[in-house]
Amino acid sequence: MAQQRSTSLLRVVKTLLHWISKETPGQESEERKSRSFQKDREVLYQQLVDHAGVGIAITDIRGRFTFVNEALCTMIGYTQEELLGHPFPQFLHPEDRKEILKIFWDAWKYPQKKPRIEFRVQHKNGHYVHLYACPTLTLHKGEIIQFNAIILDISKRIEAEKARQQSEEKYRILYEYAGDIVFTCDCYCNLIDMNTIACTQLGLQKEDVVGTSLLENDIIHPADRKKFSHIITQLMEGTTASTQNIRLKLNKGIYATEEVTGTAIHKEGMVVGITFICRDVTHQQELMMALRESVEFSSSLLNNAPNPILVINHDCTIRFVNPALESLTGFPFGHVVGTDPPFPWWTDHAPSSESYLKEVLETGITRMEKLFQKKNGTTFWVEVTSVPVRLNGELKYSIANWVDITERKEMEEKIRTYTRELEKRVEQRTQEVLATEKKFNHFIEYANDAIFIADQHSNIKEVNKKSCEFTGYTREELCSKKLVDFIPTSEVEKNRAMFREVEKGNPVENFETTLIRKDGIPITILLNMIMSEFSGEKVIQGIARDITQRKIMEKERESYISALERLNFKLAEADKLKTQFLATMSHELRTPLNSIIGFTDIILAGMSGPISEEVREQLEIVSGSSKHLLNLINDILDLSRIESGKLELTPTTFNLKAVIQEVVRIHSPMAKEKSLLLSYHIQPDFPPITNDKTRIKQILMNLVNNAIKYTHQGSVTLEAQLSQNKQLVLIEVIDTGIGISEKNIKDIFQAFKQLDSSSTRRYEGAGLGLYLSKKLVDLLGGEISVESEKTRGSVFTVSFPVTYSG
Ligand code: ADP
Repeated sequence: MAQQRSTSLLRVVKTLLHWISKETPGQESEERKSRSFQKDREVLYQQLVDHAGVGIAITDIRGRFTFVNEALCTMIGYTQEELLGHPFPQFLHPEDRKEILKIFWDAWKYPQKKPRIEFRVQHKNGHYVHLYACPTLTLHKGEIIQFNAIILDISKRIEAEKARQQSEEKYRILYEYAGDIVFTCDCYCNLIDMNTIACTQLGLQKEDVVGTSLLENDIIHPADRKKFSHIITQLMEGTTASTQNIRLKLNKGIYATEEVTGTAIHKEGMVVGITFICRDVTHQQELMMALRESVEFSSSLLNNAPNPILVINHDCTIRFVNPALESLTGFPFGHVVGTDPPFPWWTDHAPSSESYLKEVLETGITRMEKLFQKKNGTTFWVEVTSVPVRLNGELKYSIANWVDITERKEMEEKIRTYTRELEKRVEQRTQEVLATEKKFNHFIEYANDAIFIADQHSNIKEVNKKSCEFTGYTREELCSKKLVDFIPTSEVEKNRAMFREVEKGNPVENFETTLIRKDGIPITILLNMIMSEFSGEKVIQGIARDITQRKIMEKERESYISALERLNFKLAEADKLKTQFLATMSHELRTPLNSIIGFTDIILAGMSGPISEEVREQLEIVSGSSKHLLNLINDILDLSRIESGKLELTPTTFNLKAVIQEVVRIHSPMAKEKSLLLSYHIQPDFPPITNDKTRIKQILMNLVNNAIKYTHQGSVTLEAQLSQNKQLVLIEVIDTGIGISEKNIKDIFQAFKQLDSSSTRRYEGAGLGLYLSKKLVDLLGGEISVESEKTRGSVFTVSFPVTYSG
């Protein structure tokens, strides 16, 4: 076995040496001649095999290992013992087994072939190692007796190759599928390659443009070609990457600004090409423009904003304030920006303000009202709205907007004051209303009439005390009844009509009806009802007065009146009789009296012969007394006619002055006898008047007669004039006589009133003169009055309406 092994090995070593030194088989025969060195050489071969950097394996024709060197054992992790005798396919990767066996089969069939094979063997640790082998055959007498193989571990090379392939693949994928335009050119700006995106976006077919110069074809904007060649120059000079904004013409014919980054491709230290990656920055540039505009817009807004706006950093320092802050507070921008709290406008430096500031920075939008102060010390109210600003989730600063609300606050304060005042007034008014209501309720409760409220279906809801008294029911009983429940059957129809009116909204006034009390007694009531609306509900309000008593009294009065009428009739009858009596009497009395006066005067005149002085005196008394009696009878007759309404005026047009002169003339003897001055004054050109001359004369006769009678010295004067408006005739009878005391003055115009009637009758008269005068003045439509004082004389004034003639 050892011999066989040694022989096999020798063959292998020979083959190996031949393979390594590329010696020719001719040389091999020459060495055979030098047998003395045989043994040394075998030792040398043995050493070479043992220490060769390559694996060496020999198998028998069935593929079982007959020899493996150390290097192979190291490669695949097995010991020689573990390998020898085992068929080599057992260690092959299952996928490679078939292929390798085919190669061996081919080698068997075509021994002249020198196959080179790569395959994978499973290392003892489980991993696969890539091996490279050049198998050969050993023939003996034309028969294959063994397979020999020199094996190299190519795992590292395979790995490196794989990595390179992967890298290239990745590059290709990146190149091809990058979202951006990618193209490659050589150092002379000639286009070598471009990716699909480039073709699509530039609207070009790769084969049409590859090989053309980028400085001449249509891809790069002519104005940017210089920038493009600048990139190439930089890269050639050793810059790793260079970027420029370059306009590329897109498929639609418009130029898009692209950020073009060139990277050099090196080969053996030389720049052999440049790859350009282009990124469309048109939108970015538009965004930049928009951003710039936005910044300008914002700063313009901030600077021109009417309200103060502050930007406060996260550390509470002020980052920015707009000019409106200075306008409002007086604190200039330069003094404020960069400062820490407490800020100069704070009125309270208590931690509350600072903690609020921090809270604002950390939480969301906050709004609060603060009292701040200006530089000049005056205070103002602002509403501060703070908004925290975050960038990428990180709190950067907060923006505070101030709105001056001083005026609003003042208004609010005023409104609060007014509200308080109003509330006070409302309270006061409510109290008053309540008091009034209480009084009113009290008034209603104790009113002398029944007062009630019913709903629109005539269900009684509220009643006062009198309602209970009227009906004899309790309040509870009444409130469970209807208004119609009290009406007697005989009056139901009448009441129904009345209720219909109330329902129509017409007030019912003084409706007389009968009501049946609880005890069955009917009473007569006078009803007033109206339909009103309270809080959207229709109610009937009513007030009823018990007129039963009044009705009874009315009946009684009616019977009295008829009795009275009967009495009056009787009286009229009696009056008639009296007048008749007086008329008869006056005739009966005056006829003999006139005879007495007439005959007495004839005797006194001596017409029936001479009479003695004594007889004269007695006859004069008879004549005087008869005349007095005649006057009295005349007065009584006049009075009786006035009182029975039978005295009628007879107006004539006359001259008042003549009447006055007549009265004075008649009374002159009487005045002369008492040594009194009797005179008259009448307004010059007193016009003729139309009135009852006789009656006016009668009045004046009475007044002048009295004046002379009650005057013992001095004078009696008559004064006549027209009133200022010329509507009245005013006649005064003035005397300087005894006058009338204050207490008597009111009685003098009464019948038969003689002020000295109780004492000795110093003055003649029956007390009828003034009474009759007043009645006559009344008949004339005038007035009579007196002004007098005891012992100071009297002034009697008569006035009556004037009627001018024609
Ligand atoms: P007689 O006929 O008694 O005078 P009169 O009615 O004329 O009745 O007057 C009533 C009373 O008024 C007289 O009694 C007298 O007391 C008083 N009287 C009337 N006129 C005067 C007068 N001019 N001066 C004072 N008293 C007078």
